[in-house]
Amino acid sequence: EAIDVSKHFSVANGIGDAAVVRAVEGVSLRLLPGRIVAVVGESGSGKTTLARLLARFYEPTTGEIRLAGAPVGRTRRARSEKTYRKAVQLIFQDPFGSLNPLHRVRHNLERAIALHHGRMSRQARDERVASLLERVSLVPASDYLDKFPHELSGGQRQRVVIARALAVEPRVLLGDEPISMLDVSIRLEMLNLLDSLRREEGLAILYITHDIASARYLCDDIVVMYAGQMVEAGPKDEVISNPQHPYTKLLVESSPDPHRDVAVDREAIFGDADELGEPPSLIDPPTGCRFHPRCPFAMERCRTTEPPRAVLAEGRWADCWLHEVGRAEELHEAPMTE
Ligand code: SF4
Repeated sequence: EAIDVSKHFSVANGIGDAAVVRAVEGVSLRLLPGRIVAVVGESGSGKTTLARLLARFYEPTTGEIRLAGAPVGRTRRARSEKTYRKAVQLIFQDPFGSLNPLHRVRHNLERAIALHHGRMSRQARDERVASLLERVSLVPASDYLDKFPHELSGGQRQRVVIARALAVEPRVLLGDEPISMLDVSIRLEMLNLLDSLRREEGLAILYITHDIASARYLCDDIVVMYAGQMVEAGPKDEVISNPQHPYTKLLVESSPDPHRDVAVDREAIFGDADELGEPPSLIDPPTGCRFHPRCPFAMERCRTTEPPRAVLAEGRWADCWLHEVGRAEELHEAPMTE
């Protein structure tokens, strides 16, 4: 669980001074056993920083990370960190860089098993390695044990990475764009593997992606991030079919959808594509609502004051002034033309 977590980085600004990058601001998020939450947003939205905060690669600047209700990194720090790092495993985007190229599959898994179980008999360790490979559908295991990473396809490597994560019997998996570097043909298999892990092992999974279609396929809930902040959250079908924030609407309308029977004219919704502009700088983010420079619904108050959270139902909310001023229905009046 992340509670009001922020992460700021100091960087050199090129003229001898330090600037502060506000990569994540005020994020609260809870993962539950057997459920998958997607965090969606474009590059620079802060979603990878959020994954790394949850994996404890970074210490939050403010806020708190908890595991099963207990804060991490405060009391009895070393022990608590160790427990946390076993319980929460991060799967990276790049399966090519995640495995030591000098080590065979067997060695990569044995090291993780030793970390978790300590000393084991050779037979028990072999059985554990084989069962992990079978769990991620690398069968027969004997075909993979003695392979080096470069002898595997991208999908096979990512399966080994997941097997290695499972070796420490985690409770939470954080997937940072885990399918985006894989062949399109095997992405669905990988999503189905993640789905089976949540169903059969009861893992809590955070799925970070810029691809709303895969989030719709895999996840229960969706959180939308923009410029380091969460802007909307809710059950996936609600968020996708009834977005309550203009940025979510942009993401959904821009995503290919075989179920939609009209072609979406993005310009009709958000004006000329050139006017969409770039994501804002996180060194000097826009005042008020950070989306206001790109938002066709922006009002004067959007430029000066952060929008309040409109809670629409339990677990369903959006941070947008349109709700406060009674204009939310305008979100659904934008034309969709062929
Ligand atoms: Fe647009 Fe204003 Fe809503 Fe921000 S608060 S998304 S600028 S309408």
